Amino acid sequence: NGDWPRPKERRIITVANQKGGVGKTTTSVNLAAALSMHGQRVLVIDLDPQGNASTALSVEHRGDVPDVYQVLVGDRPLSEIVKEVPEMPGLYCAPATIDLAGAEIELVSLVAREARLRRAIAAFDAIELDYILIDCPPSLGLLTVNALVATRELLIPIQCEYYALEGLGQLLRNVDLVRAHLNPDLILSTIVLTMYDGRTRLASQVADEVRSHFGDTVLNTVIPRSVRVSEAPSYGQSVMTYDPGSSGAMAYMDAAREIAYRAAAIQA
Ligand code: ADP
Ligand code: MG
Repeated sequence: NGDWPRPKERRIITVANQKGGVGKTTTSVNLAAALSMHGQRVLVIDLDPQGNASTALSVEHRGDVPDVYQVLVGDRPLSEIVKEVPEMPGLYCAPATIDLAGAEIELVSLVAREARLRRAIAAFDAIELDYILIDCPPSLGLLTVNALVATRELLIPIQCEYYALEGLGQLLRNVDLVRAHLNPDLILSTIVLTMYDGRTRLASQVADEVRSHFGDTVLNTVIPRSVRVSEAPSYGQSVMTYDPGSSGAMAYMDAAREIAYRAAAIQA
């Protein structure tokens, strides 16, 4: 236990995969909670109009709550929308309301449409943060492009089932394009295997295939399929507080530790 080393420079990690239901939101929320429980100050930016990350963190995102849409399209400072997550010291959330669904279209005609999130983050100095995690929607549109432009690190969650690697090529080609034209610093830093079912041979085959492709980028920790993980959001909690002793919570804690210490090594 105790605090983990804080990064020398604030780390921004975008969690993206254009497939829905692979564990982007679950991974964003639980890694953020785990990091905050070990002395890190963490902001989760909810970039999905569904607002699932906001829900899981118990941050209001209905009605006319100021949200990420107003930051991206309305030039509102990020500091005006960021909320503290209840009962989680050091954890913050920039919520998404359904308004954000309009942003994909509205951004098209705006100046510097791909760099609006980067600009908003650069101007944010209200809280000294160690980590910013950006939870992307299940698409490769302008919202995800904004996240890829705003970030240094990309984390891809991969669900351990059939077709897991389908679509990954398209995501990686987009990453190459963003790197070539908009954000030369972008790196694929981390792959997390999610919803692993140890009873099936398919899950271990997928895991092996991903590891042989991506090597050390893949975290050693694998996130198991666990009912507790899927129950937690309906209580407005991460599984880290909902059931800290569950296999899912322990796995996300291990994954967060790997991420924290890996970077310490990179930055040293
Ligand atoms: P995404 O953000 O990529 O669409 P989610 O994180 O919302 O994916 O996960 C999709 C669904 O799977 C959600 O209902 C979530 O609760 C569930 N889920 C995610 N990870 C796990 C897990 N390790 N075990 C069980 N259910 C999970
Ligand atoms: Mg999601």
